[in-house]
Amino acid sequence: MQSHHDLSRFNTLGLPCVAERFAAPTSVEALQELLWMAGKQEWPLTVLGEGSNLILPEWLKGLVVRPILDEWRLEESKGRVLVHAGAGVNWHTLVMELARRGLWGIENLALIPGSCGAAPIQNIGAYGVELCETLEAVHLLHVEDGREAVLPSRACAFGYRDSVFKRELDGRVVITRLVMRLSRISRPRLDYGDLATHVDAHPTALQVAEAVCTIRRAKLPDPALLGNAGSFFKNPLVSLEAAERLLRDYPQLPHFPQPDGRVKLAAGWLIDRCGLKGWRQGHFGVHERQALVLVHFGGGSAAELLAFAESVAGQVAERFGVDLEREPRLAG
Ligand SMILES: Cc1cc2nc3c(=O)[nH]c(=O)nc-3n(C[C@H](O)[C@H](O)[C@H](O)COP(=O)(O)OP(=O)(O)OC[C@H]3O[C@@H](n4cnc5c(N)ncnc54)[C@H](O)[C@@H]3O)c2cc1C
Repeated sequence: MQSHHDLSRFNTLGLPCVAERFAAPTSVEALQELLWMAGKQEWPLTVLGEGSNLILPEWLKGLVVRPILDEWRLEESKGRVLVHAGAGVNWHTLVMELARRGLWGIENLALIPGSCGAAPIQNIGAYGVELCETLEAVHLLHVEDGREAVLPSRACAFGYRDSVFKRELDGRVVITRLVMRLSRISRPRLDYGDLATHVDAHPTALQVAEAVCTIRRAKLPDPALLGNAGSFFKNPLVSLEAAERLLRDYPQLPHFPQPDGRVKLAAGWLIDRCGLKGWRQGHFGVHERQALVLVHFGGGSAAELLAFAESVAGQVAERFGVDLEREPRLAG
């Protein structure tokens, strides 16, 4: 365990942060021991993956744990393929490796930064696919007593960028392993955006994953070059009446009817229409190509970022009457 550990390089926004204590356990037993110690000493606990969906404060009190459980394996029998992936496995590396082996199911989720352990937290999704569609179960430890448990996917209350881990279990568990069910049967999902135009009529899983990478690289800023946490706001879900009212005034507004009757609107379009693409204030700005992404030019703090984001959301609310909800999570 290290004290006063610098986390500036452990978050893709590149915010300055020092953790009071930091540990990177490499086994479930070591993680259990840390949970027990944190409980006994009453240290507030923060779980860190690769920091690509987190807003870190300058000082993070208590203990930060970054599980380095980086083993994965395939279990295959009678046409059933299960992937067991430790929480510390890099998500994108796993997606590419599985696509290379001809396994279908998560190829559309290529190039999403972060660890496997964090993937269920907001039910990662992209290009018309969400993690919950292939997830079988989540192995976890209860923070309170280190107890191991396995949560089947149906108990995870998955929704759009949402799960039980952001609600009832928020701060109460550490995910140690995912189990996903993939398929050897070709199942390309190409109906989202312009993905179909980037591949042949009968692509392999690897070709789909590579096409997704190409499109994403052209659209999104690379956090290694410009600090960001991907989409800063969720696409808002509004009632059918509210959507119809907006569509009368703005017929070009991208909108997606949902099974529950609500309508999902494109937050990036709303921000763009407020004239905010490329808008900069101090150390933060709205990305010049993708209005949904807020970027950090260096030298700023979490408090400044939150004030900047509030100002963006405020302008959208004033013009369209739609509230934007933040996607990255606040630590500490
Ligand atoms: C350029 C860019 C593009 C992105 N594109 C997408 C996208 O297309 N779709 C999408 O859904 N997301 C996207 N994201 C967001 C991000 O990649 C995902 O949310 C990812 O799952 C976060 O993983 P992480 O390991 O970095 O988690 P972190 O940021 O470290 O943590 C995120 C949350 O998960 C918790 N957590 C982490 N590990 C564990 C664990 N083992 N057990 C319990 N809790 C844990 C943390 O406490 C925190 O609350 C993007 C981010 C960036 C920077």
